[in-house]
Amino acid sequence: MSKGIMDNYDFDLFIIGGGSGGVRSARWAANLGAKVAICEEDRYGGTCVLRGCIPKKMMVYGSHFADDFDTAKDFGWNISVNGHDWEFFRENREKELSRLSGLYSNMLEKSNVTVLSGKGKVTGPHSVDIKDKRYTAKNIIVAVGGRPWSPSIEGIEHTINSNQFFELKKRPEKVVINGGGFIGVEFACLLNHFGSEVHIVIRRDTILRGFDNEAAAYLQKQMIAAGITFHCHQNILSVSKDSKDLLHLKLEKDITLEVDQVIMATGREPYTEGLGLEAANIQVDEAGAVKVNEFSQTTCPSIYAVGDVTNRMNLTPVALQEGMLVAENLYNKKNWKMNYEHIPAAVFSQPPLSTVGMTEEQVKEKGISYDVYTSEFRPLKYTLGDRQIRTFMKMIVEKSSGKVVGLHMVGDDAPEIIQGFAVALKAGATKDDFDQTIGIHPSSAEEFVTMKTPRK
Ligand code: NDP
Repeated sequence: MSKGIMDNYDFDLFIIGGGSGGVRSARWAANLGAKVAICEEDRYGGTCVLRGCIPKKMMVYGSHFADDFDTAKDFGWNISVNGHDWEFFRENREKELSRLSGLYSNMLEKSNVTVLSGKGKVTGPHSVDIKDKRYTAKNIIVAVGGRPWSPSIEGIEHTINSNQFFELKKRPEKVVINGGGFIGVEFACLLNHFGSEVHIVIRRDTILRGFDNEAAAYLQKQMIAAGITFHCHQNILSVSKDSKDLLHLKLEKDITLEVDQVIMATGREPYTEGLGLEAANIQVDEAGAVKVNEFSQTTCPSIYAVGDVTNRMNLTPVALQEGMLVAENLYNKKNWKMNYEHIPAAVFSQPPLSTVGMTEEQVKEKGISYDVYTSEFRPLKYTLGDRQIRTFMKMIVEKSSGKVVGLHMVGDDAPEIIQGFAVALKAGATKDDFDQTIGIHPSSAEEFVTMKTPRK
């Protein structure tokens, strides 16, 4: 009999939220012998599977064929493309997402997790209510994720958010995207490739705050070259809809735009509404995120929180790891803390941008003396035609130790390449180690092991 049951609780562990972090914690804890229940108010899978990473990446693949068809012509293929069936693609995607969601529930059941349906509300340090039914557990994990956030703009009801974007039955011909973060940039690129006229409204002059500035600016230039229009240092003041469903936007500086869709990509917020956190004295920060210590423990010692609801690093693999560590610490006598260094990330723009380690701005801020190596080129694949799809690679090396402390890449396959090099950075590889590594030729990745001269 597991410990929680001996303590007279229904379960050892009760998890609220069936997304990446919740499902990982549930299965890991159950595999370690805990009696686990999980609840979810929507379908199982969470943001990543249902309204984020997975459908987004499918749309990136789908839209990229436009480039591939063009490139194929340079290799002698005689291709005629008769348009794209958006609704067929949406339905096909939806089928796969339903399959994945079902798989999540099945995997949980196979791990002997009790799978419940409904919104869980914390009613005390050891209790969760779903509607009128109370469940008790020795420990609870809050893994409810986040949801899209928009500023209050006049006419905001005429706009859609990233969740609604995936439900669109028709591709917008002309669209404004507000925000130049992960979502704004990814949606802009994929819609541009599908053939929409895309405008991005950002309140600064560059996209992707927090990324290496040079890499972000390089990507922005490529996006402009691909036909995306940027409205920088701008805010949307109002949106109105006319009788033909056209949207009229007023921006600052007397600029107006007429489009058929406005997508808000201005960030996400922790989804703590109606969770009952106050019943267990769980504190949240000024952004509404659940406060946790380095073991993901909230201000109520029996309750933990993982993933986007804690607003630490809002990436699926991070939520998975946080969930796994809580389970290991609770049921396998470990004392593991999450390490947020060297977490690789990618923006699935076209071309994609991927990164691991520090940006040049972070290295400067820390007062580290460093060298920068860069490489910029047209990949072999594009040399037979005249399109200027280019690649940029950047390496930052700490002078004192010779360690490679940052890698940034904008170009085809960047996420696949950076994922591999992330292991090297995690292991503390030096520039010498990179120099002694043999490249794979011809590839773009080999540039990272053949960079010879630091930038002056
Ligand atoms: P981000 O935080 O990445 O970007 C938000 C954007 O909205 C920024 O350009 C920001 O501008 C702008 N913004 C914020 N507030 C306002 C405002 N009041 N008025 C106008 N503009 C505003 O959020 P996203 O929504 O793009 O993505 C949310 C999170 O989801 C990401 O941070 C990431 O963690 C995750 N995600 C990860 C992906 C991946 O791994 N590939 C893909 C998609 C999402 P400014 O820069 O000026 O602050």
